[in-house]
Amino acid sequence: MTDASPLPTHPDEPHAGSLAGRLNWLRAGVLGANDGIVSVAAVVVGVAGATTSTPAIATAGIAALVGGAISMALGEYVSVSSQTDSQRALIEKERAELAADPEAELEELTALWRAQGLSDDTAARVAAELTERDALAAHLSAELHIDEADVANPWHAALSSAIAFLAGAILPLLAILLTPARLRVPVTVLVVLLALAATGALGARLGQGAVGRATLRVVVGGALALAATYLVGTLLGTAGIA
Ligand SMILES: [Zn+2]
Repeated sequence: MTDASPLPTHPDEPHAGSLAGRLNWLRAGVLGANDGIVSVAAVVVGVAGATTSTPAIATAGIAALVGGAISMALGEYVSVSSQTDSQRALIEKERAELAADPEAELEELTALWRAQGLSDDTAARVAAELTERDALAAHLSAELHIDEADVANPWHAALSSAIAFLAGAILPLLAILLTPARLRVPVTVLVVLLALAATGALGARLGQGAVGRATLRVVVGGALALAATYLVGTLLGTAGIA
């Protein structure tokens, strides 16, 4: 949205594009943090099931933290890049069409406004005025519902999701490394479940969903992940493999 004047919208109706965009970023951040908490906690609790060696737990935990952050960044980079590639291709196509046949494009824009319910005269006036101001922006918005300024930056997206992952991942890592060996698994599980309850509730609020049920799903899912890897670690440890 490039308009200088604020749109007279209601605060709980995120149709101003940028607000919806910000909510999406926040939601992506919460999901990334969630991922960091669960995946690193599952690794360190699993290793702690097999061994009491603090260096072994620290090595596995740090490797999971670094590997997970890179994997998140890479996945986000690839997905946002392909999205922006296709948006850019559409923008270029529209730019070329406008240069090649401005009259047909004006007619197209007029037809689009007529389809929105405007009368022939009004549609023609709207299309003419918008074309005069910024023909490309008018076509992108009416035909493709995109704004050139809103095309996401894949590097930005990659960095944000890596940071979100790290912010979550650091919690189980610190919990397990700072707690005495005897208490490290129960304390880590407790920290993880509390953190998941917080991210679950926040995520549900941002998505305007039912907070209670969403939180429960996230906490139960995390508890299952920890139980599974702790069981595997314990079995491997008992079998003498780890
Ligand atoms: Zn067009």
